[in-house]
Amino acid sequence: MVIKEKKPNLLRKVYLYNETPAIDLDVIYICRYLSAQCPVLEIILRESFIARFYSPDLIKSLAGIWSDELLSPGYKVLSEEERLEYEAIGYRQTEKLSPQVIYHGWPLWELLKAQIPQKEASLNALHLILTPRLAVTREPDEKRFHARTVLLGQPSIISSSGLVEAPARPQEYYFWQAGYRSLGLEIPEAVIREKFADQFLTYHDSRLSEVALGYILQTIAYYFYGEAFCQDPSCRLFNAHYQKAMLAAQLTFPEFCPRHSTLFSS
Ligand SMILES: [Zn+2]
Repeated sequence: MVIKEKKPNLLRKVYLYNETPAIDLDVIYICRYLSAQCPVLEIILRESFIARFYSPDLIKSLAGIWSDELLSPGYKVLSEEERLEYEAIGYRQTEKLSPQVIYHGWPLWELLKAQIPQKEASLNALHLILTPRLAVTREPDEKRFHARTVLLGQPSIISSSGLVEAPARPQEYYFWQAGYRSLGLEIPEAVIREKFADQFLTYHDSRLSEVALGYILQTIAYYFYGEAFCQDPSCRLFNAHYQKAMLAAQLTFPEFCPRHSTLFSS
């Protein structure tokens, strides 16, 4: 589906692949925003990346890079056969993809990079993958794995589950969580909505599209303009480590700091 008609002066393309269910991301809204705000980019919306470049080998490789780090309490580690079955179903029925399944981030990135056809691997084309799949990475000097909102580069991968899971929630939430878990329970959704609604994203959150858009802009800024994350916490290019800071950067005006206010128009 081509959202914007190709014009002769549009040298940069963004191939936008979406496998995040519509309940979480309004991808048409995202495309309209990008076409309006980034007039020098041609935005090409595609189906899910895995579906487009499907092969039995790709499914097998996906099943081979699951991470057992950061698993929720009580989660049962699946057998190789069960993992293959999950992947074979998940790429076709993306609403069945679960944030309980966690991938090693950089092997996932390498695997998807290897699928990009040579003729589309130009420096002037960014392959941008929106997915509910959750990926983790760790720095060489770190013991703990961390969930990721985004993996930058070619391709760039933005995880809707990562937007929910990666930036830290307020201390008070973890205090409540520890209390409930000591009783063998999780915090009820109703309690989360009542006490913490304005403090962090949840799954199927109506703010997800707007927040994801900010991370899409970050990947475009990095890939085409060489702009790493912004230091200004009010700018959409700010790399927030806390949910509250992420919501403030993505949902309040002005959208950009003075330095980045005209970045995408040239
Ligand atoms: Zn900025």
